[in-house]
Amino acid sequence: MKFGFWYCKDPDKFKRTRQNREQIIRIIEEVLVALYAELHRHLGGSVVPRILWRYLERSESDLIERFSNYPEFEDFYTRPRNTLDEYLELHTIVEGVQTAEALPYFIYRLMRGAYIFENLAYLELRYTPYLRTNPNLDQSRRIEQMTEIAQIVGRSSRLKEYPIVSSQILCMHSKLPYEVNRAIVDLAAQMPENICAIDLAGGDAYYGERMEEFIELFEYARSLNIKATCHLYETEGHYPELLPFLNRIGHGIQIPLRYPHLLKEVAQRKQCLEVCPTTYLKTGTLQEIRQLKQVFDQCFDAGVDIAICTDNAGLNDVRLPFEYETLLTQDVIGFEELQACQDAAFRHAFAWQYAQRPASLLDRLLKSEAS
Ligand SMILES: [Zn+2]
Repeated sequence: MKFGFWYCKDPDKFKRTRQNREQIIRIIEEVLVALYAELHRHLGGSVVPRILWRYLERSESDLIERFSNYPEFEDFYTRPRNTLDEYLELHTIVEGVQTAEALPYFIYRLMRGAYIFENLAYLELRYTPYLRTNPNLDQSRRIEQMTEIAQIVGRSSRLKEYPIVSSQILCMHSKLPYEVNRAIVDLAAQMPENICAIDLAGGDAYYGERMEEFIELFEYARSLNIKATCHLYETEGHYPELLPFLNRIGHGIQIPLRYPHLLKEVAQRKQCLEVCPTTYLKTGTLQEIRQLKQVFDQCFDAGVDIAICTDNAGLNDVRLPFEYETLLTQDVIGFEELQACQDAAFRHAFAWQYAQRPASLLDRLLKSEAS
């Protein structure tokens, strides 16, 4: 706990008077109200440009020669793209360097930043494990190596000094063969202590021609009791046939924008939209953040929950509290709606064990102790 140092510093003082205790509860409530849950964050896209640049320098990577200095690299890495495809192309740079050996380096810094700068209490980290395996191995050996990758990610994300509750979402990929995607589902089933769900990524415009295959994979995951989300209705991605298999919808903003008739069934299935505001500007999907007002308004009206997320905090050059602030300052939502979205994030989190967010939990606990 962040307040642990303060609490332990003088435990006698803590016990001294009831008045003191109540004051402490008030302070803790204020601190804890700022603990957030992040449900949609990519391991690759979360590497902030400075960390990636330092890694490339230290490892004397050839990649660095393409840029004359850091500002040039940062500009290349974070500037908006015209399409989702161009945006996703950037992931391949990071995936290439996130090898089994380098993953602890990147994850340590990712967790540290999430704790210190974002106040995250809970984080679901998603990635395609196959794309972190050794590309010089053949497909079956790379599939075997995926287990090691998931173990490394699990170990590296549990840090005593930055105690965020975290779990992994494994992404199937629209450009990977069926066997690999099926092995990703199998891996999720084998490691429930590390992996809380599966996803499908790689650009939602590519799902169409392989739809039967993806439906079968989501059915298979469901038969193994694995939770599911899917990058869907982000830019195009109008595949209503996939919706029944999902617990949450990755993005889903085109549902309220272009297919609002689907909102009713989304609400009935209690599916939550993972909305990542800055991404839509970086991919050219939206021109301004205010266009999200329609998304939020229609979802609130229809009773569809929204969790606000960052998607690719590094590529987007944004952290979760800034996404919140932008939505507020652009009048997309008000403070009450923001709180509803923050509560929804904990309610729909796949590996959060409690019914409430941390602030409410501790509030109750401390009040009962004080009385
Ligand atoms: Zn995403």
